[in-house]
Amino acid sequence: MTAKIISGTEIRKSILAEIKADVEKMKAKHGKVPCLATILVGKDPGSVSYVTLKIKTALSVGFHEIQDDLPEDISEADLLALIEKYNNDPDIHGILVQLPLPMHIDEKKVINAINPDKDVDAFHPVNVGRLMIGGDDARFLPCTPAGIQEMIVRSGTQICGAEVVVVGRSNIVGKPIAMMLAQKGVAANATVTIVHTRTKDLAAHCKRADILVVAAGVPGLVKPEWIKPGATVIDVGVNRVGMNEVTGKVILKGDVDFDAAKEIAGKITPVPGGVGPMTIAMLMKNTLKSAQYALGDL
Ligand code: NAP
Repeated sequence: MTAKIISGTEIRKSILAEIKADVEKMKAKHGKVPCLATILVGKDPGSVSYVTLKIKTALSVGFHEIQDDLPEDISEADLLALIEKYNNDPDIHGILVQLPLPMHIDEKKVINAINPDKDVDAFHPVNVGRLMIGGDDARFLPCTPAGIQEMIVRSGTQICGAEVVVVGRSNIVGKPIAMMLAQKGVAANATVTIVHTRTKDLAAHCKRADILVVAAGVPGLVKPEWIKPGATVIDVGVNRVGMNEVTGKVILKGDVDFDAAKEIAGKITPVPGGVGPMTIAMLMKNTLKSAQYALGDL
């Protein structure tokens, strides 16, 4: 059996089209559109290309965009003052500070300074707490885990009652996706196990999983024989394993041995083209939601 490929690129297109339609409705009803402020400190090439993509996507769905390219040596106080200005501007619905920040700036302090109701990355402790409480409290979900949940749902995989194994316990992927899928509610109600480097028998846990989410950052960690036949496999790993000498492009591989795994799994995400494209789409969804709250539509 060859698994159905869950394409993040395709799902992303549908989500962005849905957001664009909602933005048009908002414009017709309120004469306003969501506004995302992106703050980039310095010129790290990875961060520049990521922010550029976020801005391009925001504009493509009809958002208003405010872009701040700040010098590498900006003081922490000046950055915090800019965030405070945006916190107090009712026309700005989402504030995104691209991470990592230069060493002289306390990242935690910056994240904590963003108004939780504009924290569209959902990294603020208040939003982490809201996620834990679940239900209507969880206003924004962190973007990568939200993308993973959306992919599982849109692939037609039953989450309620499923055995889920999450490989990895980071604050940005493993922990939040585990909590989201274990919640009482829609697109949840799973029985979730988190595994990590101290887990005794990783393979045995993975083999039980109806839904296997792998976010370890270790290329090919999950072997095909660890996969339960018919399981849904979400490979979050993005590992640079070399350079294509002809195209000059970086070769990316996931945490799962894809070619062999797709002969056993029921559904599987590729790398690239799987979870990766979903993250920015979910950032847009959070910004739209923030504007809908601000305008009283939610
Ligand atoms: P991280 O902070 O490095 O956490 C990795 C987790 O995996 C840790 O909990 C670690 O366990 C666990 N782990 C590592 N090696 C393992 C092993 N051999 N056996 C069992 N567990 C192991 O990584 P992250 O930020 O969550 O990212 C994980 C991967 O997802 C990376 O490849 C990253 O590039 C990718 N990613 C992709 C997206 C996207 O596509 N949008 C977004 C975020 C991350 P310990 O806690 O015990 O150390």
